[in-house]
Formats: sequence, structure tokens, C-alpha cells
Amino acid sequence: MKQFFLSTPIYYVNAKPHLGHAYTNIVADAVTRFHRLCGEDAFLLTGTDEHGDKIAQAAEKQGMSPKDFVDSVSAEFQELLPRLNIANNRLVRTTDDAHKRVVQTFLQKVHDAGDIYFADFGGHYCYGCERFYTEKELENGLCPQHRTTPEFLSEKNYFFRMSKYLPWLAEHIEKNPDFIRPERYRREALAMLESGALEDLCISRPKSRLTWGIELPFDKNYICYVWFDALINYISALSWPDGADYARYWPGEHLVAKDILKPHAVFWPTMLKAAGLPLYNHLNVHGYWLSRATKMSKSLGNVVEPEDLCARYGLDAFRYFLLREMHFGADANFSETAMIGRINSDLSNDLGNLFSRVLSMLAKYYDSRAPEESGKRKADDTAIAQLCAAALQNYVQLFSTMQFALALEALWELVRGLNKYVDSQAPWALFKQGNTARLATIVLVLLTAMRKIALCLWPVMPETAHRMLAQLGQRTQRNSAPVESLEAEITSFEGPAAGTELAPASNLFPRIGVKNLRSP
Ligand SMILES: [Zn+2]
Repeated sequence: MKQFFLSTPIYYVNAKPHLGHAYTNIVADAVTRFHRLCGEDAFLLTGTDEHGDKIAQAAEKQGMSPKDFVDSVSAEFQELLPRLNIANNRLVRTTDDAHKRVVQTFLQKVHDAGDIYFADFGGHYCYGCERFYTEKELENGLCPQHRTTPEFLSEKNYFFRMSKYLPWLAEHIEKNPDFIRPERYRREALAMLESGALEDLCISRPKSRLTWGIELPFDKNYICYVWFDALINYISALSWPDGADYARYWPGEHLVAKDILKPHAVFWPTMLKAAGLPLYNHLNVHGYWLSRATKMSKSLGNVVEPEDLCARYGLDAFRYFLLREMHFGADANFSETAMIGRINSDLSNDLGNLFSRVLSMLAKYYDSRAPEESGKRKADDTAIAQLCAAALQNYVQLFSTMQFALALEALWELVRGLNKYVDSQAPWALFKQGNTARLATIVLVLLTAMRKIALCLWPVMPETAHRMLAQLGQRTQRNSAPVESLEAEITSFEGPAAGTELAPASNLFPRIGVKNLRSP
């Protein structure tokens, strides 16, 4: 069995999870489920990032110890996962002892190899980013992320000899076009490397200034820089260096939002190289959700609350909308009107209507049991089988390269094709004429293709997929893939056994009236 490993970023636990977090987790869950559906042993990792200045300050503000603070916020984050139906295998916390030990082993290894040195240092420190910037990285003297003037700090610190690995990294990215994807972020990473702005990475903070972190194994007066600590979660969760999961799942893939491209595209691969570990296979980078064409912020009053939307429209409709609406990598605008539009057109009119009309015909003509095939298939039926094979082929290819919007569009060609097939074949007329042989062929072609649609949708809308399959008479287990290999479904076109019991009716996605619309 092929293994697949995917991580989300570990979330910085100083804010309530927002639409961006929900999106990253839903994409990660859908991708992992997709690999499970393709017969792979797929592992999904998520977690919380719990060290650093910002956490220490936020805890102090609340009058809590940092540990109590991160426990409460991490618990809040963990509660979100089942509400979004995220089937993660593990949740790593950077305050776990196991993680701390792995970070220290990693640091010691790189130190022993001579790639960590101690030096006097003066640098521009942004408290928001918790990192030093070089002169060249600043924009008009300001932090490029926060647009604030960093403070000039002078102290002795430990440095990771990152500069030594930058030419090698540039070559690796050049030679492996999908190492960072989509392409726009690969170009961005190469531009960072070519700019000459990157130097060695300061990886320590003196305890005199900050104590909330992991102690350096070779100097107890210093703790580890939060990013160096955080990135190692991807292998500490797999119990590197000796764990069975590490041997089984590494190297895997990462999923991140574009704001953390640099640590993942530059710091992490050079760290892995210095420690002598294999690099990840792909870094998948997504864009931002905007609201009314700008970044969401409390002061603008345009924040979209994922939980509100799930409560109002259903989790699966929300998951479908996010994957269908955003072209992975680009920014997308969130609008509730657009979401209702998608629910009404794609889910209710196209998909829901297909299930509803076919199952009600079967109830009427066959007492909700699959008939026996008794006639020969005609050209129109073969065309549907071909359309089905093509749709599945495209779906698998597009989904496996993170092109979810196009994958769903490809699948909807089949959904719409089936609705047209119902219209053109007019089974009700055949029933009136008593042409039962032809009628049976048509409903069996429909049931066969509908089952394939339900299978394809399991990664995107897991609960709905189980419901659709149950309506088609297929028993499934709630948290496991409903089929052994989706790829095998591309070439087969086997209908249900005669007598299979079907649901008498289906109402998957009721239409939403526009009067329900509230502005965000
Ligand atoms: Zn900053």
C-alpha cells in the first residue's frame, strides 16, 4: 500500500480560528480523504504552535501562565476539528515533551555537523514576526509584513548556517517544478533566493529576554527561535528519528497559506538538508479569502465566521463551496450570495434534483428496487458510460494536483449530462408505453453513474456522500473510504445487483430562499 502524508501548518494559538484556518483544514482533510479513496494509507497531521513572544504576552494580558493559556486555546482549536469533520490522524502541540526532545535532538545534530555557530549580532527585530530582518529585507525601513519600524537589538546569538545551502536549494527548486506549487509561489521562492536578502538564520533568543520556548541543548541560557522549533513538528509528530511512523510516512507534503511561504520554502528545506533528512515532496500553497475584495478584519466589519455559515447552510455545502469557489493558489472573494448561488444551482438544481427524480421514478416504477437489466445498451447509454469515465479520469487527475475547482467542474459535467439524459430518454413515456426493457436499462445506467458521483464526492462532502450511497443501497462505514480504489472505478461501469433496495425519496439539498440572506 502506498503511503501519503500531509500536514497543515500548526496554528498559532493566540486568536480564534477564522475562515482561513477552516479552509486550510478542509482542503487538508479533502486531500487526505482523496488519497484514502485512491487506496492509499494516508496520514493527516495538524497541530498548534505554542511558543514565542506573542504567546507569552497574550498569556500575561489574560493573567494566565503561558502553559495554562496554550492549554485552553489549543483545546478550543481541537474542538473545531470535528465540527468541520476533519479526519486528522494526529494533533501535535509544540509544548509536548516528545516534540521538545525531537527539537533538541535536531538542534544537536545540526550543531555537531558544524552548521550552528555563536556570534555577536545586531539586527532589526520585529516583535510581530518574532524574527530579525536583514537591511535588504526591510521595505523603506519597515517590516514588510507589519509595516512597523523594527527595533534594533544587539546581542550574542546562535545562527544556523542557512546561507551555505541557498544555492543548492535554488537548484533543487529549478530542477523540481512541482516542489513548490502552484507555479506563482515557486517563482516567488526563487525570487527570494535570487534577491540576496537571505543570510544565516538567527535561531536563538537569550533567556534574559524570553523564557517561553525550548532550551538549546548546547546552551541553557538560550531558547530556540519559534519558527525553528515549529517547523520540526512535521517530523516530531512522526517520532523522528526512530519512530515507525517516520519510517512509514516521511517524506510527505505540506499545505500552507501564502503568508508563511518563506519559512516553508526556504528555512525548512535547508534545515532538513543540514540535518541529513530527505526533503518534503511538495509544498502546496493557497491564497487568501477576501471579503468585499479586501482582507477580513474586525475593524472593517467584514469577518466571515465559519461556524455561523455551517450552522445556516450545512457543513458539506460550506466545504463544497470553499473547494469549488477558490482556484487553489489564487485569492478568492467570499460572498454569502455566491455561496447561496452555488448551493441552489450546483447542489440543489443539479445534484439534488438528479437524485430526487431518479429515486422517485424507481419508487414509482420498481418499488425502490434495482431492476434486472433485460435490454441491450444503445449508443446514448454508451455515451453516458464514456462521459462517466472521462469525468472520473479528469476528476482524479485534477484533484491529485490540487485543482479542486476544476475537478468539481469536471464532475458536474457528468451530473448535468445525467440530467439531460433523463430529459431526452423520458423514462415516464417508456413506462406509459410499457417498454420495461428499455426503462430498466436507462435507470440502471443512471444508478451506476450516480454511485460514481457519490464516491468522487466523499473527500469534499463526506456525510453527503455516505447519504447518497445509502440511498443507492450501498452500505458504508462512516469514517472509512467507501471504495477500495477510485481509479478502478474509472474503467468499470457495473450497475447495482437486481433487487438492491433503494431509498424511496431523496432531498439532499433543499433550495435556499434569498430572504435568508444576511449581510456579513
Ligand atoms: Zn513583522
